Amino acid sequence: MLSFIRSDLAQLTAYQPHPSGVTGKPVESPSDRLDTNESPFDLPGELKQKLAWTYQHLIENNRYPDGGHAALKVAIAEYVNESANLSPSCFSPARITVGNGSDELIRSILIATCLGGEGSILVANPTFSMYAILAQTLGIPVVAVGRERTDNASGGCPYEIDLSAAQAAVEQPQHLPIRVVFVVHPNSPTSNPLTPRELAWLRSLPEQILVVIDEAYFEFSQTTVVGELSQRHNWVVLRTFSKAFRLAAHRVGYAIAHPELIVALDKIRLPYNLPSFSQAAALVALQQRRLLLDSIPQLLAQRTELIRTLAQHPALQVYESAANFIFLRLKETNAQQESGDRLSYIHQQLKASGTLVRQIGGGLRITVGTSEENVRTLNRLQAALAANSH
Ligand SMILES: *Cc1c(COP(=O)(O)O)cnc(C)c1O
Repeated sequence: MLSFIRSDLAQLTAYQPHPSGVTGKPVESPSDRLDTNESPFDLPGELKQKLAWTYQHLIENNRYPDGGHAALKVAIAEYVNESANLSPSCFSPARITVGNGSDELIRSILIATCLGGEGSILVANPTFSMYAILAQTLGIPVVAVGRERTDNASGGCPYEIDLSAAQAAVEQPQHLPIRVVFVVHPNSPTSNPLTPRELAWLRSLPEQILVVIDEAYFEFSQTTVVGELSQRHNWVVLRTFSKAFRLAAHRVGYAIAHPELIVALDKIRLPYNLPSFSQAAALVALQQRRLLLDSIPQLLAQRTELIRTLAQHPALQVYESAANFIFLRLKETNAQQESGDRLSYIHQQLKASGTLVRQIGGGLRITVGTSEENVRTLNRLQAALAANSH
């Protein structure tokens, strides 16, 4: 490695986007891209036209974007209040900051809290991988605990965080104290919302620990902690336009938090972090949110159908989902050691037959796609399982 590059980067591997992004070549036959939880639907034509008009008439290409995101923050604040049934004045734009995807906000949070040996972060695996990846690129230690798998316990959530391990991690004098706890609500890849026990634990954390609640899938789950935010100065909620709002191409995410944290995050971000066209796209999406979010019930019905069908397969353990993806595992066999190989085989078979899914956390995470894609998912998964059983 070049000698001027930080030595700890040698151990890091970059986040892997769609397979086409790795080789640099476009995928030859178009695949069903069910590995990144995007919406299967592009913007409706009328919205694209609106945006095209904005581009032609309003955006000055020679000018920097609005670095304060003023209009967008007003629209986001209004949506946030509406989404949690709060009064229209509850959250003002002073409680919001906008990022180039929530990924940027995650990095800003890490810089604002842990950088320079100030602290470490806590995650519960399996979970969204970017928290740990971004922390490592900044030299911030990651403490990982697991999730209990009480599959047989009646009524319990099989993927609840191992809370005693989490509490021990917070109390133990690590070489660096835990400064931030990252949770996803509902979690990716396990698709469960925060449980009452998890929420109680998060509420019990001391105020020198920042709690990040990533609600990337809020529009699908309709469960939010935003209503509690004004009482909890050490909580921040992240949301994104990349999923239900169908704007993954534009990279827009936002954070809702105490105004002092917002000021700190704004100090850290690049001055013109969000291109004018992305700001325009997010604004149009918010203005037309009825139209965009109307497709969600259909998608959720398809999810129910996918889960119902796959749960009948004797080899699969399929979990309930509160998001636009499902998570499944292979049922344990006597040869436990082989189950990882079997999973990889099925993952590869799916890819070879044209369906990209994500292998993570000892299972497969599959995005709910169009009805055609979902039919192909069922057929291809069943074929891969049949081929594997020989
Ligand atoms: C998809 C996703 C995001 C979105 O990231 P962007 O950078 O806004 O595209 C954030 N958090 C989780 C848990 C996700 O799954």
